[in-house]
Amino acid sequence: MKLLEGKTAIVTGASRGIGRGIALLFAQHGANVAFTYLSSVEKGQALEQELAAFGVKAKGYRSDAADFKAADELITAVVADFGTVDVLVNNAGITRDTLLMRMSEQQWDEVINANLKSVFNLTKAAQRPMLKQRKGSIINLSSVVGVKGNAGQANYAASKAGIIGFSKSVALELGSRNIRCNVIAPGFIETEMTGALDQKVVEQWREGIPLKRGGSPEDVANACLFFASDLSGYVTGQVMNVCGGMLT
Ligand code: NAP
Repeated sequence: MKLLEGKTAIVTGASRGIGRGIALLFAQHGANVAFTYLSSVEKGQALEQELAAFGVKAKGYRSDAADFKAADELITAVVADFGTVDVLVNNAGITRDTLLMRMSEQQWDEVINANLKSVFNLTKAAQRPMLKQRKGSIINLSSVVGVKGNAGQANYAASKAGIIGFSKSVALELGSRNIRCNVIAPGFIETEMTGALDQKVVEQWREGIPLKRGGSPEDVANACLFFASDLSGYVTGQVMNVCGGMLT
């Protein structure tokens, strides 16, 4: 059964990792998919072809989610190209890990802008078409680190905790217009973002997870599919931990 037939979705940061997994699953479920990337131009172009192979409309946009004006222009372009926006997935994110003692102002600002301000930028712009059609689903990617904190990631944890407060507020503001806003908090998902880690550390992570494995982009995409589809029509303002039981 195709769960997103006829819907248009925007996924930010879909050139690789979790965002790519979400875009592919959405297309498989019949959604027309607009997606963004920042530097991976070739990967973005290749994804456009892969998505179109599912028989849906697909288009990649090079757009910096941290840039307010660019986010506004992106939504205008997507509405012009696709007609509307039914689902927004704020997935784009970065890490600049280091202990607070060594953290520079730049490392703080970059992470807050790319991870948190981006969610404000895109949500503010996407609410326009959603308000018009009195329907929409916004899905924001936080992290278990935003729920419980992590040494060496004060900037990242702050950005991801901020996403939760923002999303709960948006759910309250837009609920009466049938626009839902939910959060997914992934645990340890094996992507390029985590590929940079020491393999010994990775093994320790896996051992500490009740399900004894790192998650895959598909694991996160499946949760996104639920929130994007009408199956979650009565669910808003919630945080779903997709973490193999790391948080109970
Ligand atoms: P990833 O493999 O590093 O991919 C990040 C994606 O975001 C890339 O497509 C990148 O585009 C894009 N991006 C980064 N900054 C951007 C910007 N300013 N504007 C537009 N696009 C931008 O990351 P991932 O592991 O898939 O993570 C995806 C999301 O899940 C992030 O929000 C992350 O914090 C969250 N998350 C991940 C994990 C995990 O274990 N992996 C756990 C919890 C939460 P380019 O390729 O063009 O640079």
